[in-house]
Amino acid sequence: PEGDFDYDVVVLGSGPGGYTAAFRAADLDLKVALVERYESLGGVCLNVGCIPSKALLHAANVIDEAAHMAEHGVVFGEPEIQIDPLRGWKDQVVGQLTGGIAGMAKRRGVDVIQGTGTFSGDHAMKIEGEDGEKEVSFRHAIIAAGSQAFKLPGLPWDDPRMMDSTDALELKDVPEKLLVVGGGIIGLEMASVYQALGSKVTVVELTDQLMPGADKDLVKPLQKRIEPRYEAICLETKVTGIESKKDGLHATFEGKKLPDNTVFDRVLVAIGRVPNGNNIGCDAAGVEVTDRGFIPVDKQMRTNVPHIFAIGDIVGQPMLAHKATHEAKVAAEVCAGHKSAFEARVIPSVAYTDPEVAWVGLTETEAKEQGVKYGVGKFPWAASGRALGIGRSEGFTKLLFDEATDRVIGAGIVGPHAGDLIAEVALAIEMGAEAADIGLTIHPHPTLSESVAMAAEVFEGTVTDLY
Ligand code: FAD
Repeated sequence: PEGDFDYDVVVLGSGPGGYTAAFRAADLDLKVALVERYESLGGVCLNVGCIPSKALLHAANVIDEAAHMAEHGVVFGEPEIQIDPLRGWKDQVVGQLTGGIAGMAKRRGVDVIQGTGTFSGDHAMKIEGEDGEKEVSFRHAIIAAGSQAFKLPGLPWDDPRMMDSTDALELKDVPEKLLVVGGGIIGLEMASVYQALGSKVTVVELTDQLMPGADKDLVKPLQKRIEPRYEAICLETKVTGIESKKDGLHATFEGKKLPDNTVFDRVLVAIGRVPNGNNIGCDAAGVEVTDRGFIPVDKQMRTNVPHIFAIGDIVGQPMLAHKATHEAKVAAEVCAGHKSAFEARVIPSVAYTDPEVAWVGLTETEAKEQGVKYGVGKFPWAASGRALGIGRSEGFTKLLFDEATDRVIGAGIVGPHAGDLIAEVALAIEMGAEAADIGLTIHPHPTLSESVAMAAEVFEGTVTDLY
């Protein structure tokens, strides 16, 4: 469109999608504004998501490892949890990163505008900040307004003992008895943290497995490890109500396995996230939003309004930071006139539990549902010298290959560092690697990465007796 605009690109929201889009657009010489309602940049991921959760999970892992070494002749005393410095360390990690984002915005000449943005037209956004309201006009807009925790209605949310993931990450204290509603990635990560810090944890999950979406066999080693440590893991069970009383939160359940304990000091609800599409004035810009608040986009991340783009959690599943950043680069490049498109074949998923659970491409369940003819190469970590050396033989690496072409089409890995290991398979899938390409690649010994090559060799039949 012709005309003078304040900015070439206005980006709404400063999460991994938003800041990546803003920086890429600025690097491509566009004049960019980044609108964020909070003082701290970085969105959910940096402030109340990926980063603080991983810092706390690291602490949890150290506690568990130290306890585990007692079996092998290295005995530490009981850990003393000093909650204030622990929280302070987590906040410092977050602060370092969010401050870094602000610095990078400044160096690139990106104008950060603090305030709540809503569209006031198809080339204009109104921003309500502390010092009043202003309006900016844009040639292009990129919506990266993300998502928020779904607050199950009917629960006593005005009781401060009720938590969503943001509250849980605040780490105000360590409750004695914690109920985690939802056995997905976020619920289980937070459960790991609080269990390691000393809480008695009960997990309730509606479906018949933890981490729905992953193959069942992949989740088994995790379940086996955490089951004895937790008060209870109740599958095919739901919470039907929670009543706030003076002595605790009284929960009622329905389903296959009812927990013995029904009174909790805190309840964490982690049953999904809702996109923010309905809160940003899309109507005024003519941008289509689904009933659930998602914004449909094409491969170039364009909404139905061709000069307005959307990226990240707000465009749909999977709600993951690395998907948001990838989409962000596409949107920014298209704004700059490049012919970019979102063409990733696969997006890896990782649960940073202990053991980690990671998968990419087709799961076996999906392959079966889609009638794909596939073969499996599975390498048990009990046959890996490195896994034994770190005292963790419960993991495995499983690769799925297309039977006709031998190309790798999916993978699941469970065990420590599975999240790092899965990246190799994502690359292999993107490059159309065949089993022999992986099996013939020399992997360093002794590493867990060898398990990927071994799984390929198991599929090819070049390794039969594992050594
Ligand atoms: P967001 O990060 O949600 O950012 C949106 C931003 O927009 C926010 O800062 C918000 O304040 C701002 N905003 C919204 N509306 C307005 C408005 N009207 N005006 C101004 N500003 C506005 N993903 C991973 O890949 N790995 C992980 O390990 C991981 N761990 C997670 C752990 C937890 C506990 C949670 C909750 C999430 C986790 N995620 C993880 C998911 C990840 O955080 C999201 O996928 C990612 O943050 C999405 O990025 P985004 O840019 O789409 O939006």
